[in-house]
Amino acid sequence: MDEKWQQLKDWIDGSSNIVFFGGAGVSTESGIPDFRSVDGLYNQQYKYPPETIISHSFYVRYPEEFFRFYKDRMLFTDARPNAAHKALAHLEGQGKLKAVITQNIDGLHQMAGSREVLELHGSVHRNYCTRCGEFYDLDYVVKCDGVPHCSCGGVIKPGVVLYEEGLDNRTLQKAVTYIRNADVLIIGGTSLVVYPAAGLIDYYRGNKLVLINKGATSRDSQADLVISDRIGEVLGTVTGVDG
Ligand SMILES: [Zn+2]
Repeated sequence: MDEKWQQLKDWIDGSSNIVFFGGAGVSTESGIPDFRSVDGLYNQQYKYPPETIISHSFYVRYPEEFFRFYKDRMLFTDARPNAAHKALAHLEGQGKLKAVITQNIDGLHQMAGSREVLELHGSVHRNYCTRCGEFYDLDYVVKCDGVPHCSCGGVIKPGVVLYEEGLDNRTLQKAVTYIRNADVLIIGGTSLVVYPAAGLIDYYRGNKLVLINKGATSRDSQADLVISDRIGEVLGTVTGVDG
């Protein structure tokens, strides 16, 4: 095994207080593209950049266009957990991993069996009527044509955090507590540029900060171990969990 992978394995084997912080790269191996990396072809279908469409004011003003983008580019109902999700669920089951903190909204960690999942940006699986508060699942939203409506006539809003909206404070506080108390902090699939979530890692006080990302991140110099390989491959191998 690669020397760096072996180092990670040793830290995982020796710890019962691991916390994982993940970004879009964790889901790309399940076939879910980062919606920020919209390619030219897709760009031609939309008059606005993704950051504009996925904003609160755009959602309020142009709900049809918002839901066209949302359903086309942010919902992937056929996606299944990859080796990274499975490895993390396995470590939690062994009592070694305390929590998964994620910027992803796809629910794949829970599908893999993880229980303590802090979804900083919400989830596509929780949708609520903006008029009466009724809950709707993802299936209902997908099956509605265009803008999804409640039986009361209100618009159903996806339970995801849009641009211009704040993160849920309770979730954020829990994430801070887990990171502050973590022995090993593994960060994967993010280039750590999306704030305020990226600022969370500053709460870590230990000396086993691991960054796993295909490309360089803005925090590489801060890390105790940097692994530039695919996260599913790394976590799957060091935990012995197959994808
Ligand atoms: Zn309603």
